[in-house]
Amino acid sequence: MPAAAENPNTATPPSVLSTLNEDGSRRWISPRPSPGKWLSARRAVAYLLIAIFTLIPYIRVGDKPLVLLDLATRHFTILGYTFLPTDTLLLALFGVGVFISIFLTTALLGRVWCGWMCPQTVYMEFVFRPIERLLEGIPGRKNQGDFKGSPLAKTIKFGIYFFVACFLAHTFLAYFVGVDRLREWVTRSPFEHPASFLIMASVTALMLFDFGFFREQTCIVACPYGRFQSVMLDRQSLIVSYDRVRGEPRRGAKRDLALTVLPADTRAEGDCVSCNMCVTTCPTGIDIRNGLQMECIHCAQCIDACDAVMAKLKRPLGLIRYASQAALAGEPRKRIRARTVIYTLVLMIVATAFTLVLGLKGPVDVTVLRSRGAPFVETDDHLIGNNVKVKLVNRLDAAAEYSLAVAGTQGATLRSQENPVRLAPGETKTVPAMIVAPRSAFAGGGIDVRVTVAKGAEQLDSEPFRLVGPGGPAPTQDHDADHHKPGDDHTPDAKEEHRDH
Ligand code: SF4
Ligand code: SF4
Repeated sequence: MPAAAENPNTATPPSVLSTLNEDGSRRWISPRPSPGKWLSARRAVAYLLIAIFTLIPYIRVGDKPLVLLDLATRHFTILGYTFLPTDTLLLALFGVGVFISIFLTTALLGRVWCGWMCPQTVYMEFVFRPIERLLEGIPGRKNQGDFKGSPLAKTIKFGIYFFVACFLAHTFLAYFVGVDRLREWVTRSPFEHPASFLIMASVTALMLFDFGFFREQTCIVACPYGRFQSVMLDRQSLIVSYDRVRGEPRRGAKRDLALTVLPADTRAEGDCVSCNMCVTTCPTGIDIRNGLQMECIHCAQCIDACDAVMAKLKRPLGLIRYASQAALAGEPRKRIRARTVIYTLVLMIVATAFTLVLGLKGPVDVTVLRSRGAPFVETDDHLIGNNVKVKLVNRLDAAAEYSLAVAGTQGATLRSQENPVRLAPGETKTVPAMIVAPRSAFAGGGIDVRVTVAKGAEQLDSEPFRLVGPGGPAPTQDHDADHHKPGDDHTPDAKEEHRDH
């Protein structure tokens, strides 16, 4: 029996990663630039972003940097506000807000982040590739001279890459160590600070590897964002799309029937002339005519390339354009839909919670923890004492002195060798103390008190605490640690006495 003929509309075309040849070797992609309105707009946005990224570490709000992510002390300054290690809830809300914003933006505008704002795309397409074209020529263009692409030109290219990578690495590190410390590192001998020098050298090498060798593979195989796009996008999301109905059947070159869906009112020929300009300009090496693909970073270069071809052929522009899948299918555009409403609502809830928690933050955070050991002791002066640790976090940008006291029951006092407690700006300190009360006060069991913190005559904060004595039940070790305010960090780490500067 003869083998059944393969259906050309269902046959699967051979498919490999766009950066790999079929034998598994690397396929180097050298996209041809396509001048056009989208390229001009992206270039303007890219240079603006590069300027902002470079300048941010130098900008100060008052006496604080605009952004400083100090991992060593876990102090994160964003827009001039410093999040301390105890601000777990605030940081979590901030992180959730960022993720929801990405989901919402993607649902509305597709991968606009990847194509327009991601540092990988911005530096690759508007810094490193232009340098490469300058020294190695534009792919496919004839008569570019003997120098372009010569070994000398390649050597110069890598020399320039090295300096750009160095500058980029230093700018990147300034976000984590601050410009002052970075200046110190740069101006001193590497032998005086080998660890920091090693960090700088490693980040520079990483940048060189990324922009000189790994390139578009960062988007295709390393970045998780592209893989999530199938769940973040829907038929209404704005994406870079090829108008298959208008473009097919293609003219010119032999048609790839496996990928061609003939429109119902079949015309002899569509508008696509198979010139492949949309493919040769693509920085990830894909063919947009194959539909929405994970590798597409929505950079719009294929739109400019195809528009130039359509203009030459005196055909309407926009065979490739920003359009949702629904719009291409003739369905009405719906900006308000379940996922955009849900994302917006969640974002508003998170933003409100963040503002409320931030508003509750005073100049000092206080946490009272019961010390290990006996739940209560009898003092020499016949009072009942509970050993505690009072943890204070000075949120001010100046040193401050905080006085501790007890309120809530008559005769209870707080005894500590360090009271008032002096704290440097941003410092966290845990002070051992004992809260004492007369034995008679425990006749009915435990006593609820509040440990108060004052600066001068002004009471700033207070924290509830349950005193136990001979008349009450023995507490669990963690019972009193559960009294805390939103945003306070009560992880085991936080229970250890420590100082953060
Ligand atoms: S640039 Fe336009 S006309 Fe040329 S192959 Fe791509 S879609 Fe077809
Ligand atoms: S298919 Fe078009 S939009 Fe997508 S990455 Fe390639 S050139 Fe950019």
